[in-house]
Amino acid sequence: MRRSLHIKLVLIIILLIVSLMVVVGAFLMNSVTGYYIDKFYGQVADAFGQRNVDFIRDLQTATPDEEDGAAMMEEVLFAYAGALGVDRRDRNFFVLDGTTGRCLGGSAPEPEGGVAITPNISTALLGEPGFDSSVTADYMDAAIPITRGGQPYIVYILDNRETARSLNAEMFSLIVEALALGLIISVLLSFLLAKTMVDPLQRLTNGIEEVARGDFSRKLEITSSDEIGQLTESFNAMAQQLETTIADLEKAEQQRKDFVANVSHELRTPLTNITSYAETLAGGVGELPPEMESRFLGVILNESDRMAHILQDLLTLSRFDSGRSELRLTRFPFAQAVDDTYQAVLMDAQNHAHTVELRLAEDLPEVRADRERIMQVMMNIVSNAIKYTPDGGHIVLSAGRAGEKVWMEVDDNGIGIPAGDRDRIFERFYRVDKARSRQSGGTGLGLSIAQEIMLRHEGGLYLVDKEEPGLTIRMELPIRGPREEGGHEE
Ligand code: ADP
Repeated sequence: MRRSLHIKLVLIIILLIVSLMVVVGAFLMNSVTGYYIDKFYGQVADAFGQRNVDFIRDLQTATPDEEDGAAMMEEVLFAYAGALGVDRRDRNFFVLDGTTGRCLGGSAPEPEGGVAITPNISTALLGEPGFDSSVTADYMDAAIPITRGGQPYIVYILDNRETARSLNAEMFSLIVEALALGLIISVLLSFLLAKTMVDPLQRLTNGIEEVARGDFSRKLEITSSDEIGQLTESFNAMAQQLETTIADLEKAEQQRKDFVANVSHELRTPLTNITSYAETLAGGVGELPPEMESRFLGVILNESDRMAHILQDLLTLSRFDSGRSELRLTRFPFAQAVDDTYQAVLMDAQNHAHTVELRLAEDLPEVRADRERIMQVMMNIVSNAIKYTPDGGHIVLSAGRAGEKVWMEVDDNGIGIPAGDRDRIFERFYRVDKARSRQSGGTGLGLSIAQEIMLRHEGGLYLVDKEEPGLTIRMELPIRGPREEGGHEE
């Protein structure tokens, strides 16, 4: 990874520097040429301009009995060579015949084959000054028609652009040198840059590999607050999330296994009893005393009943799990439901010599809920209080309102739940004392179902902390019913 990222960095930097140099170089060289052209035409225009009347006059005015006008003009032009920038090397002037363009003299010997007729000379031959030049041409010239002593002449100034060219060449070599130096520096810098970028990425990669191997324990150190730092932070968060999710999944898987084992175990016990009693009955038809036969049949009926009970509870839970169980929402007075529960268990409580106290708040409203299911929850927790309190106990059923919720608490002074088991009593099949629960027909599913029902109503079922012996369970229910419609109104 290090190599490929490094190469990419170097390539990007080289590309940047080269393109920058090309753009800057082209711009500079173009500007230099442009500057020289402007300066050349500026000088010529100034020399032949309105303000320089002496110069024009000297060129135009022929002396009396003048024989060679061109030679005289040559002399004048030599006198003004400084103003025209004529150095006789790169820039020269020529005096041409105004009708043929033939060279009559100049600051340099006439070029071989004569002075070339350029577009500017053609313009001057027509009587107009020629002042044009293109940036791409390798010369620049100006041709000005002058009439002297009635004779047409052309003053022609020719610059071979050597100064501009040599300056451009100088600049080009400078740019190439700067480019080479820039490239060397950039390659060195890229090592540094690659190190600051690649090292954290390498650490991140190592971390990811460890997570891929299943080790979530190591947190990656965050060394910067840039994008790589943020990436590392996100990665740490993701690893943490993954660890929690996997732990949850493992827990769920364990719960599933326990559940299957529990179901098998719960069903096997009554089934074994039924089988053995049925076998005894089948083996001794007519031989067993009638009262024994009817006792055996009673046990068989009882055990089948228990199995039916367990299966019914399992079916209810499975409906909740799959979301197939809809709530039948109606409006009913909460106080009435609590009172009905109280009345329903009173007889059973009396059989166990328990005293049951009912404390209802005055302002209890109507609630919107599935009445049958809420009654099921109430019955379950009150029956538990009766079941798990030694005879002669005291049970208090109280209900009230707290804001937008109503609540009911069932408090007993029974055997209570050991601190270590408190968290688990809502688990499926969890019973503190299996034998005692079974004896009283319990399946260990009652509270899980009750909690499921309360959650569906967006309420809850909790254990309340208390100092005294026994147990207090509290159920809470939103008055307006579940917001998320898990059921339909009747
Ligand atoms: P069960 O059918 O066994 O009663 P539940 O789900 O209703 O199943 O209760 C789960 C377990 O919680 C019970 O087996 C019992 O150990 C414990 N429990 C429930 N209510 C009480 C209570 N009021 N006092 C003591 N223990 C209780």
